[in-house]
Amino acid sequence: MADLDEPDAGTPLVCATCGTSVVGAHATGLARLTWARGVENGGWVWTCPPCSRDHLRSIEGKLDRAWW
Ligand SMILES: [Zn+2]
Repeated sequence: MADLDEPDAGTPLVCATCGTSVVGAHATGLARLTWARGVENGGWVWTCPPCSRDHLRSIEGKLDRAWW
């Protein structure tokens, strides 16, 4: 596991699945609590709540992200 620093507050979040972005310190602060966070290729990967729900079955099925 890469030893990553916590993402900086204010760094825009972009959903890796649908491309939705969240900008602004308040909005990103809120999104950090609700978005799913993962690590991929040495960087943070974010997934917005709608995509998390849509892909819950895929996650539970342990399918590779390439299938998303
Ligand atoms: Zn999304």
